[in-house]
Amino acid sequence: MAPGGSAYEKVTESRIAFSDYGIAPDNAEFRASPHRKVAAVVSGKLGVPTDSAVHDLLECPVCMNLMYPPIQQCPNGHTICSNCKSKVRYCPVCRHELGNIRCLALEKVAESLELPCRYQIFGCQDISPYRSRLRHEQLCQFRPYNCPYAGAECSITGDIQFLVTHLKNDHKVDMHDGCTFNHRYVKSNAQEVENATWMLTVFNCFGHQFCLHFEAFHLGMAPVYMAFLRFMGTDDDAENFCYSLEVGGNGRKLTWQGVPRSIRESHKTVRDSLDGLIIHRSMALFFSGGNRQELKLKVSGRIWRKNM
Ligand SMILES: [Zn+2]
Ligand SMILES: [Zn+2]
Ligand SMILES: [Zn+2]
Ligand SMILES: [Zn+2]
Repeated sequence: MAPGGSAYEKVTESRIAFSDYGIAPDNAEFRASPHRKVAAVVSGKLGVPTDSAVHDLLECPVCMNLMYPPIQQCPNGHTICSNCKSKVRYCPVCRHELGNIRCLALEKVAESLELPCRYQIFGCQDISPYRSRLRHEQLCQFRPYNCPYAGAECSITGDIQFLVTHLKNDHKVDMHDGCTFNHRYVKSNAQEVENATWMLTVFNCFGHQFCLHFEAFHLGMAPVYMAFLRFMGTDDDAENFCYSLEVGGNGRKLTWQGVPRSIRESHKTVRDSLDGLIIHRSMALFFSGGNRQELKLKVSGRIWRKNM
């Protein structure tokens, strides 16, 4: 084919098509080309998964986060997010004084975009307008969970399967199959309650995992023990289950029936809401029998599915 205008047009078309499928060519010529912006808008309007082209366009050169209106720019047109703008006086690209200039064109481009949720790789099908994307992602049911282990600050996040493996391998948590359990918690000196003794056991049942927390803390001035169950999954799914806990001994018995709380809620939130079996130390010592020094608690429990 003879070199000419038609060849050029073909190239342009294929570039746009590439971007529609989320695989924009990544060469310097293309990145600098005005066609790139067109491609980004086209693919955004179609609601097709967009790619690095859109992200580059809307990425703040300082903090690398996506920019949301109001988007600022320097007199030479270099853009910057309003958060970073408030921290610097000069343009990070050309060193010109920033002033106070909105980049309305880019804001309009942003408004017209629809982007897939960042948790698409975890299965989210959501495509939201740029403006509401952040809000969706904060509540997206596919967003990763925090590690439910409460003993130390653990920053691991991931899906449930990943976290189950992490609990087993890195926290050495006990795993049990079945929906009934029988546990003994023994502590030789019950007075040492300050050192919030806590334990985590994971139960596998109904194809889900449940975390049984047991710990000691002060409720106001009173030393107490608390046991509660958390569900490894969404809030909605947690509502499908019930559990009961029973602690007793020495002729006394205390029972609790509750609904497991999702691990979406932090361990501390659930604990502080007292949504579980609470045993005052003096009562725990009655259950333990003996010399009222040693703590010997037998906690049994059951998890079941609510009738739906
Ligand atoms: Zn920024
Ligand atoms: Zn500049
Ligand atoms: Zn999502
Ligand atoms: Zn962890």
